[in-house]
Amino acid sequence: MKILLLGGTAEAREVAQALQGREVVYSLAGATDNPAPTGIPSRIGGFGGVAGLAAFLRDGGFTHLIDATHPFAAQMKRHVDLAALETSVGAVHLLRPAWGGILQKVENVSDLASAAAAVPPGARVFLALGSRHLETFRTRSDVGFWVRSITQKTDNAPFTFLVGRPPFSVEEESATLRQHQIDTLVLRDSGGSGGLAKVVAAQRLGMRIIVIDRPPPPSGLVVSSVAEVLQWLGREEAKW
Ligand code: NAP
Repeated sequence: MKILLLGGTAEAREVAQALQGREVVYSLAGATDNPAPTGIPSRIGGFGGVAGLAAFLRDGGFTHLIDATHPFAAQMKRHVDLAALETSVGAVHLLRPAWGGILQKVENVSDLASAAAAVPPGARVFLALGSRHLETFRTRSDVGFWVRSITQKTDNAPFTFLVGRPPFSVEEESATLRQHQIDTLVLRDSGGSGGLAKVVAAQRLGMRIIVIDRPPPPSGLVVSSVAEVLQWLGREEAKW
């Protein structure tokens, strides 16, 4: 059994930890400059679409594929389903549960463009999206956007960059939102515990919250926890 683990999330690192000593390769897209070490062999960079992934799986003698990419990494999930079909490699998606009911009194939108359109004129917005997803908001020059990143970035109207490395407590998030007189939070329904503090802080401060809903789930097998991934592997191993 040889496993390709697609990472980029805290859950993927947990799976990597649990699979120490097995034949596993951990794969990252290359979006982060200094990825946290996982203790297992890793590779970085795209595969070159479905055909590239299928060739990588075949050439590397992989038998199983665990997709633990971010819930909004929809393209990679599609590629996993198609390449698994093409190569008969067993595949599972680990998709952490959405926040769902926790996100009360929010405005739900389906994509970045709808989120940009939903921001009221003159708003002061905390954009919790990551710096790769800002371009859509550039058209809203009537609005101020605050964006946090791990490394210092030069301010670039309408974006003001803040530096900070998660995790943040509700108190820390409240202090940041108050300091910059933020009145609107825009974020994606990423789920997990990492981003929840800012939602709670924004709710307590009575801010407008615009939530970008998740893309549709992938067509292949989906589980929602690391434990379920390990159970799936156990069942696959029994067949092996
Ligand atoms: P995406 O749109 O679904 O994927 C874009 C392309 O990036 C894929 O087609 C693939 O390139 C490559 N790729 C994605 N994940 C990869 C992986 N683990 N290993 C090797 N190649 C990978 O994904 P995205 O939203 O750009 O996210 C890129 C990565 O960042 C993901 O791994 C994800 O887990 C991580 N991440 C994303 C977010 C987010 O907000 N979307 C947040 C945190 C972490 P090829 O077609 O060339 O194979």
